[in-house]
Amino acid sequence: MKTRVVLFICALIMALNAGLVFAEPEHTPAPLAQTQSSILESDGDLALVNRANRISKTYVPENLVQPKVSTRKESLQERIHMREHAARALEAMFEAALLEEGYTLYATSGYRAYGIQQILFNSKVEEVGSREKAQRRVAPPGSSEHQLGLAMDLQAPSHLNLSQAFGDTDEGKWAGENAHRFGYILRYKTAWRDITGVSDEPWHFRYVGIAHASAMHDLDIPLETYVEHAKALPEYVLRGANHVLLAGLVKELMAGNHPPVLDDLRKAAPNEQAEALRLATLPMLSSDQTYEDVLYYAYPTPKPTAAPWTDEDEEEVELLIGENL
Ligand SMILES: [Zn+2]
Repeated sequence: MKTRVVLFICALIMALNAGLVFAEPEHTPAPLAQTQSSILESDGDLALVNRANRISKTYVPENLVQPKVSTRKESLQERIHMREHAARALEAMFEAALLEEGYTLYATSGYRAYGIQQILFNSKVEEVGSREKAQRRVAPPGSSEHQLGLAMDLQAPSHLNLSQAFGDTDEGKWAGENAHRFGYILRYKTAWRDITGVSDEPWHFRYVGIAHASAMHDLDIPLETYVEHAKALPEYVLRGANHVLLAGLVKELMAGNHPPVLDDLRKAAPNEQAEALRLATLPMLSSDQTYEDVLYYAYPTPKPTAAPWTDEDEEEVELLIGENL
């Protein structure tokens, strides 16, 4: 029953997240309201926050809720908050980890106010002796994604501190490989250190929405690189495009090319946008993909492609669930 409710909620998140195009592919996306701010700004899922792009001291996200997910201590649960849509996606991810693999994930740190980040940073400076050294491990106030209410630090039962070793646990590996299906990206990797300015943090996940998370995962690039190029795309594309189109466009832009299809997308009137997205995607599909496959690839979430959902594996699922409850 619980799973059905989660499935329903996740289906709803997916539809809302990808816009009308995703929910009803035949229909056109609603024209953007004049007052709607960009998905790249601080309230948007693609807001870029780092030392060069700081959030205002007074920014507090709306709709903070407690995600209904496991934590290492029950008392921790009421101290962990996220924006509501990110919380629902996190719940889907935790549920899938358990259903598909029997892995329990713990949430450990979500929304952090500016003042709290300042205290954490100052104590790190005292510990290591300089601001420069401290900022390799703790984000200076205003440069932490946790202030957005879209980031969550994860733990595994076998690994209860935040360290690189989380990335070597089964749970950590699973999260790194699957988070994009739920709209999350593994935000900091060693290979990206020169771009992000942050050491490897296999525990830190950031919500950006399923299409963007999957595009970044496919391209294996950090949010900084993605946003730098995605900025060139029209707002309705950022809000309504599927991951194949987004990855294809960003890949071209990264190579310094101007994809001709971008001109068509820019020219499309509001009532032509859904069709423009479809036409732009078709040449990017692989031979075994249909447009509908791409639209619904992670739908519903947790996606029912994992073995536990098929008939022959039903018994195995029961066992897995039984062991972990
Ligand atoms: Zn974090």
